[in-house]
Formats: sequence, C-alpha cells, structure tokens
Amino acid sequence: MDGTAGPPRTAALRGIPLCCPGDGRLLLQAEAGLLCSHCGTCYPAPGGVPVLIHDARSAFAIADYIGGAGYEGAAYGRAADAASGPRRWWRRLARALGDAPSSIRHPGPEAALGYVAALRPSPRVLVVGSGGLRLGGPADCVVQIDVAFAPGVDAIADGHDLPFPDGTFDLVVAVAVLEHVADPQRCVAEIRRVLAPGGHVHAVTPFLQPVHMGAYDFTRFTPIGHRRLFRGFDEVAAGIALGTGSVAASTLRGALLSVSSRRWWRVLAGSAALLATPVLRRLDRWLPNGADAASACWFFGRRREGDPVSDRALVGSYREGFGMGPLSLPRPPSRTAEAASPIAPPKSRT
Ligand SMILES: [Zn+2]
Repeated sequence: MDGTAGPPRTAALRGIPLCCPGDGRLLLQAEAGLLCSHCGTCYPAPGGVPVLIHDARSAFAIADYIGGAGYEGAAYGRAADAASGPRRWWRRLARALGDAPSSIRHPGPEAALGYVAALRPSPRVLVVGSGGLRLGGPADCVVQIDVAFAPGVDAIADGHDLPFPDGTFDLVVAVAVLEHVADPQRCVAEIRRVLAPGGHVHAVTPFLQPVHMGAYDFTRFTPIGHRRLFRGFDEVAAGIALGTGSVAASTLRGALLSVSSRRWWRVLAGSAALLATPVLRRLDRWLPNGADAASACWFFGRRREGDPVSDRALVGSYREGFGMGPLSLPRPPSRTAEAASPIAPPKSRT
C-alpha cells in the first residue's frame, strides 16, 4: 500500500455542494479547510463551521471569525451583556416587551415551506441570515447561513456572494435581512441564481423602522419598492408583516430617546416606550389600510424566467393603501401544472 489518498472530495453541507464565493468553482475538502483549486483560497472552518466570505468584496473579514471578534449579528450588543441580578431580569423583560409580536399573522417562512413542499417532495431550502433560529417544517435539507456564529448556523456566508452552485435550492428565505446588506439588488440576484427554475423566495423587509444594528443597517423599502426588488420573480402573494401600530411603537421610542442623552432620561423614556410597545403592536391588525405606513413588508414569489417585470407593469400594479395582504398563501398549483409551467424545456420542431 502506498497510502495515497483518493481524489479530493468536493466540500458539501447537508449534501449541498459548496462553491468559492470569489469565482464560483466547487470547493474541495482539505486538511486546513475548504480549498478552491482555481484561485487557491483556503476557507477556514473554525469549530466545523466554514467561513465562506469573499474577503476582498465583503464588509466582513475572514480573519475576524478566526480571532473570535466577528460581527455579533442578531445578538448585536447582547452577547456582551454580563449584567446580573435585577438588572439582568429587567433587560430580559425589556427584550420581551421590545420583541412583542404584531397582531398581524402574515404567512411566514413555515407557510412558504409548506407551499413549496406541496409542489416538490424533499425541497432544498436556504435560510439567509438565519441567526440562531432553525426553520422547522417538511424539509430534509435546510441550510442556514449568517454572517455571525449562532447555534443554528451551518456556514458563515455573505448574501452578496452565496457559496452555492446555480439552481441549487427550491426555497430561499430572507427575513429581516435585506435592510442589512450594502447592495440588496445584488443579494436578490444571488438568491435568484441559487434557486432552481420554478423555485420560490420568501422575504420580510422593513419599510418604516428606525436604524437597528448600527452600521449594518442600509436600506428601507416601500411596498412597491419591495416588489421592484423582486422583479425577477412572479408574485404569489405579498403584504404587510408589521403594521402601523408597530411604526407608532418604534417612532415613539425613537422620539422619546432623542429628547436627551442623559442616562436617567433614557432609562425612564425607554421604559415608558417599551411598556407601550405590546399595546401598540396589538393595533396592527385593526389598522388594515395602513400599507402606506407599514413597518415591514413580506413577499412570496416564484422565480421568473425571461425578462424581469417592467417598471411600467410595476407602477400599473400599484394598489393605494392595499391593506394587509392575504393572511394565508393560496393553494399551490398541482404538481402536474407545475411540471407544465413555462420552465418546461421547449418542444423540438420536428
Ligand atoms: Zn476561488
């Protein structure tokens, strides 16, 4: 025996092949990490979680994930919370109040997964910016990526350069993510690229919300702006995820905190605003014509082949104050109808 290893193994995550975020070539499993034999980059995998960041293009640096000083993501400012005793108790309560759910029950990622699973058995799902939440539902293969380590995260990856081959997934989920990326159009183009023909996207993105997560908060979308962001998709359903009551809650807090930077004032005003938050968010569903003053929009669409939706068609589709949108997704078309959709290969002219 000469001890020669076999051909290098292609790197994969839950059975999904991984690509170099720089040039899209398949990565190989190497001793030091995941190797791109084309550009020679070796991506580290500290703790078994690959860091698939394009170091030159991304706002994030690979080195940060090695030293443990990387971006905290949704845990922003919380990981360092070493408070104890009553202060710790108060901060937990404040978090619970601040995260109080809206009274709008819009169809979320689980509903989207149910829709896609009815069309395709064993759908392959990508969750962009998953944080520590694991998407549950009828999918054997859910890959979760984020730019921060968290228990549910399978790989560190930036939405601008998704490390997956074209046409890999049946559903991509991006909830409260696209406001945090420098170039949302590029990220949506990447989402479309990694979707198989006929694949679906589910996204929730803020419209009227104050800045959150500091420097990593770039963009807001009106309902029509959000639709335009997904012009490479046909709309299945869309609506309002957080309503005008939620806007009132965040605006009240922002306004009160802006009065003074004194500590006692921030504690007093911040507490008053937090106590009002669950009450105001309960108002969301009772203000059904508040789309033009909503806090966040959702979109569920199917990858569109051919030209994107034109701006003229988008403007023509505008519905003033179009309400909350549907509270459930339509019944998916039958699998036969799906198979006969425009993505079917053209018949030969014989
Ligand atoms: Zn490469």
